[in-house]
Amino acid sequence: MRDGTAYGKKLSSACAIRTCFFTASGAASARRQLMPARETEAIILKTFPLGEADRLVSFLGRASGRMRGVAPGARRIKNRYGSTLEALSHVQIWYVERETRELVRIQECESLESFHKAQSDYQLSTGLAVVSEVSEQVLPEHEASESMFRLILLTVREIERTRDWRLPLSYFAFWTVRLGGWLPQFDRCASCGTPFGSQAAYQATWEAGLLCEKCRRSGMRPLHLEARQLAERFANERVDRITNVGALAGLLTELREAALNWIEHHTERHLKTREFLESA
Ligand SMILES: [Zn+2]
Repeated sequence: MRDGTAYGKKLSSACAIRTCFFTASGAASARRQLMPARETEAIILKTFPLGEADRLVSFLGRASGRMRGVAPGARRIKNRYGSTLEALSHVQIWYVERETRELVRIQECESLESFHKAQSDYQLSTGLAVVSEVSEQVLPEHEASESMFRLILLTVREIERTRDWRLPLSYFAFWTVRLGGWLPQFDRCASCGTPFGSQAAYQATWEAGLLCEKCRRSGMRPLHLEARQLAERFANERVDRITNVGALAGLLTELREAALNWIEHHTERHLKTREFLESA
């Protein structure tokens, strides 16, 4: 990926440790303990209701990697998190790690950048849902990934800015495959080695590579020369410099579907949110 500083403002202190007091839960430990709270810039990936009042939050910390935590009281009407826990929100988050538990405790969350238009629009939020699900599936827990962090942020910004997920989502899917090291050869058949030339190549979720007309099996979808050339542009150009989205629509779909198939192939998981894209 190209130099990431171009993707957006650089925020100072991606991760810092500060010390604060918090009351440990449980009747046995009512005494106040001094615990170090961690702070990181983060992207909220997903939240789930937890009990009557709390939320389980999956987030990608710029410094911490993907983590899960509990936001106590987040389901109450009056809560201290406001709208910061919306999916794909860009936030600064403070949390406390607990040695014996997998879930961290989220203490505070502040908005750095909001994407209200995309989050509140049904069509746009279907695109965001795919970004969220793919990120959850490809990112290992507790492993910082600066490239994926920048890619997700860029994608969401572009969906918000252009009010259209077609180009940003296709770009996101392509780069996720590339960053995962899963891109197959685009110029020759993975089975017999014949160059595709100007012919269509064929892909499917059960196949890691692209196949030629002779080797293809039924059910495989074409990836035409123009869609492969679009992938080349994605590899070399910033997404916000690519225009004329209307004329590219069919190619964007071809490339996105191929990339999502490769993601499913390598993660061995079906992406539930992708089926909503066609109806959006
Ligand atoms: Zn072949």
